[in-house]
Amino acid sequence: MTAQNNQPRTDGSITRRQFIKLSAATVGSVVIAHQTKTRALAASKVSRDTAPAMLVDLSRCIGCGNCQRSCAEANGLAPTTEQAQGLNGQNFTYIKKVELEDGQVRFVKRQCMHCLDAACVSACPASALHQTPEGPISYYPNRCLGCRYCMVSCPFDIPRFEWENGLTPEIRKCMFCYERQQEGELPACVANCPTGAIRFGTRSELLAYAHARLAANPDFYVDHIYGEHEAGGTAWLYISDVPFESLGFRTDVTTRPIPAYTWDIMSKLPTVVGSMAVVLTGAAIATQRRKGHDPDHNVPPWEREGEGEPIEVKNTQSDQGEG
Ligand code: SF4
Ligand code: SF4
Ligand code: SF4
Repeated sequence: MTAQNNQPRTDGSITRRQFIKLSAATVGSVVIAHQTKTRALAASKVSRDTAPAMLVDLSRCIGCGNCQRSCAEANGLAPTTEQAQGLNGQNFTYIKKVELEDGQVRFVKRQCMHCLDAACVSACPASALHQTPEGPISYYPNRCLGCRYCMVSCPFDIPRFEWENGLTPEIRKCMFCYERQQEGELPACVANCPTGAIRFGTRSELLAYAHARLAANPDFYVDHIYGEHEAGGTAWLYISDVPFESLGFRTDVTTRPIPAYTWDIMSKLPTVVGSMAVVLTGAAIATQRRKGHDPDHNVPPWEREGEGEPIEVKNTQSDQGEG
């Protein structure tokens, strides 16, 4: 191509190079829009009954912080005192102290809810946030474009961006100790809760247990299992002896799986979808350059052939702290 061919034209026509770039951007936008639509409209293939789950009984939490400390240790995190007060790159769970109007105190453990139909997964244009075959929502940083759509889409305000990491920032959140589960171990937080405030098991077991507990103690518990229906159902479930709204839980979360809304919104924003391609293509090139050329680097472990045995969800642990 001659130098003349690359000069901007004043007659409104475009050069061959400009045409190729525009064509690539258009194809990219169509591919991204198609992938977003496919993810948004595809129902999760995860079994809602056998998915690994947690039940937090807020009436039993004493705010000791063992779960938070064991989470940090298991994940190699080192939060400062300030970072330990919330969710961030160094803290995947924390205990929020709530003082009620009548002077009582409750402690609320917060972390990713591991939605069964996760909005963050459907919003991620690069499949960096991904639902594992068993259900936990995991993250593959080598795919991440840094667009932060997951943060915007999450109904529970969970994912955090590593602003402090200028070179290779990642999205950070609880991964449900997926690797520990694959090795047959309990997630670190539940293994170290001294009161039985957290229980681990399949979602159907925990729902049955929670319903039985509410039925046996109707004057004690609020008649609601938070997460049974919120956002289409989550793997982390809560029961409480005080109303969830008084503890700061969002009670306006839809019961319709949120990914269905993603496409409702995206499909009405064609220019946004189109311009995403240009921005994301540049981001992808920068990301891949930064992260090297390992042939497997774009394939999460659970998608690689011959790797990642399915996890076996152990039965709910013994009724430690039953009362
Ligand atoms: S709580 Fe937010 S980050 Fe966690 S799975 Fe649901 S949408 Fe994703
Ligand atoms: S499941 Fe694992 S990563 Fe999630 S809060 Fe518990 S210890 Fe932390
Ligand atoms: S370890 Fe158990 S009792 Fe202690 S803060 Fe965590 S959930 Fe509450």
